[in-house]
Amino acid sequence: MARALAEVERGLQFRTAAWIDGEFVPALDGRTYTSENPATGRPLAEIALCGAADVDLAVTAARHAFESGVWRDLAPAERKRILIRFADLIDANNDELATTETLDAGKPIADVRALDIPDTAGTIRWHAEAIDKLYDQVAPTGPAAVGMVVREPSGVIGAVIPWNYPAQMAAWKLGPALATGNCVVIKPAQQTALSLLRMAELAGEAGLPPGVLNVVPGPGDVVGVAIARHPDIDVVAFTGSTEVGRSFLHHSADTNLKRVVLELGGKSPQVVMADAPPLDEIAPKVLDAIFWNMGENCSAGSRLIVHRSRQAELVERIAAAAASDWLVGDPMDDTTRIGPLITRSHLERVLGYIEVGRAEGARLVAGGGRVLEGSGGHFVAPTIFDNATNQMRIAREEIFGPVLTIIAFDTEAEALAIANDTPYGLAASVYTENLRVAHRMARALRAGTVGINTYSEGDLSTPFGGYKQSGFGGHDKSVHAHDQYTELKTIWIDMTETGS
Ligand code: NAP
Ligand code: MG
Repeated sequence: MARALAEVERGLQFRTAAWIDGEFVPALDGRTYTSENPATGRPLAEIALCGAADVDLAVTAARHAFESGVWRDLAPAERKRILIRFADLIDANNDELATTETLDAGKPIADVRALDIPDTAGTIRWHAEAIDKLYDQVAPTGPAAVGMVVREPSGVIGAVIPWNYPAQMAAWKLGPALATGNCVVIKPAQQTALSLLRMAELAGEAGLPPGVLNVVPGPGDVVGVAIARHPDIDVVAFTGSTEVGRSFLHHSADTNLKRVVLELGGKSPQVVMADAPPLDEIAPKVLDAIFWNMGENCSAGSRLIVHRSRQAELVERIAAAAASDWLVGDPMDDTTRIGPLITRSHLERVLGYIEVGRAEGARLVAGGGRVLEGSGGHFVAPTIFDNATNQMRIAREEIFGPVLTIIAFDTEAEALAIANDTPYGLAASVYTENLRVAHRMARALRAGTVGINTYSEGDLSTPFGGYKQSGFGGHDKSVHAHDQYTELKTIWIDMTETGS
């Protein structure tokens, strides 16, 4: 298998231009930027550095495609067929897309092949399948009128996405936006544009008409802002940091009041109650929740809140497993579970937090620094701090790296108070064998997703979004994601006859 992938890697030809109106085009001013491989720190590709004028072109193409009806007016079954073909093409090109993603983003190849790319195709397929199965409504008016309540596509959707799950985050926006008949202008994160550019080409191959999907790579403070402020974009969907997300609301308020949907950061709690299941069962889940994707995960379970009676044993288990099970290494190696962090500056930020944890007096029980420096990559050992308090910065701020902070508690009320004492509310989990405690905690935790005896984001059929400063205005996944890309229209037909 390794040899087969090496061959895929040798044959890769990256798509590096913007995808606008059904073709690859350079940035209008011809500029490019270098995307690097985070495992080596070396250049990987030269990508079109778009600006506001390129966004204008893409929005014009999207608006034209929308108004022409080539997409929204297709028979639902036909729209479904094209999107399912798109999903099939993503699956058929798994090796190429996965290798691209791993080289570009540093994500472990085993995860990308088995999960990211299949989930990307699965997301497109799930929303496609819903297209001819969702009904509109007729209001209970009586015979004097017909009151229809119908959903219509919003028009042109802008999307701005992060680098941690490049293909998947794109699909979470594209699936529901395209399924509901919209046209899209999407900006990938600069570091990770390659998989989405190839996916756009596959969408074209599947029969998506020109202009329906446009991909505009470039810097957030230029291309992202141009999308946020564009007068002809109807809805903007953003996934990224809370700080940047907040700016989208300002931009909307200052321009055309476009709808804003935000999926933001988190500092999610994992609560282990005194009556939790056996620790050998839950220890691997606890570590998955924080070390998965190098901890570069919005819903990472970065605070472990554990009952004092289970603390010592759980800490001992996870500290040992962090070192033995979570192999840091070349992300192209099938056995690697932790690849490099995305950039040099992000590495320094995460190392900075590890220093903060030490200085704050938390007890370092695993990891604690940079590794594999000779590779030129941005690798950090999976790191665990015990005996922290929820007031420490390592418990309050999103680190977005493989760093777990452990806090002990004595009572259920205390556990809940600590878990909810955060500006975020994306995800949470509770480990308990007691049904009543599980239900009570699930209801009381202020988070968009609560896992019981697991750490989970649910599946494609369940909505994903944040409470408090983890989200705003909508959700990804499930039919609920269709709401934010559609307008609700009432059509009122008077049925009374006059004069005859
Ligand atoms: P980020 O800095 O907010 O960037 C996200 C996207 O916004 C990138 O495409 C970025 O462009 C763009 N951007 C940056 N500055 C901008 C600006 N001033 N105006 C408009 N767009 C701008 O976040 P990140 O560091 O890439 O990603 C990590 C964050 O995303 C974490 O906070 C994480 O929790 C969150 N996240 C949330 C979810 C969720 O579903 N809730 C999922 C994944 C990640 P460039 O970087 O290309 O310049
Ligand atoms: Mg890259």
